[in-house]
Amino acid sequence: MTGKRPAEKRPDRTLGPPHDTFWEWCGKGELRLQRCDGCGHLAWPVVRKCECCDARAFTWERVSGRGKVVSWTTFERDYYRGLMPLPYDTILVELEEGPLFVSNPQGFGRQDITPDMPVQVGFIDAGDAAGTFRLPVFERA
Ligand SMILES: [Zn+2]
Repeated sequence: MTGKRPAEKRPDRTLGPPHDTFWEWCGKGELRLQRCDGCGHLAWPVVRKCECCDARAFTWERVSGRGKVVSWTTFERDYYRGLMPLPYDTILVELEEGPLFVSNPQGFGRQDITPDMPVQVGFIDAGDAAGTFRLPVFERA
């Protein structure tokens, strides 16, 4: 992302371990997900134990950040009491590694989206009640 813009306000994140580790990596500009040390399953969203084998040990693996848009919608109703300007677009990205990731498009809108459109992760400055953080969003690849 170019230029310095004020942090976009966002709903409060879920924090505490192991979520904090995800956000720490985002702060370094890296999208990392939990790879189960027991069975190799790539978990997302963040979990405390593996949904496949119940193991509680994970390695934070850097993923490519590449994916494709598999669904999208525009929110026109104010679910967050004025926190986010309306309307806003939300996309469902299928990462190359498999997990589905709900995010926002950056630099394009629903009028630009075609099924399976390739996208690449980027990070924007965002803020919630706990402070500022780097939020993963997706740009056209
Ligand atoms: Zn597992």
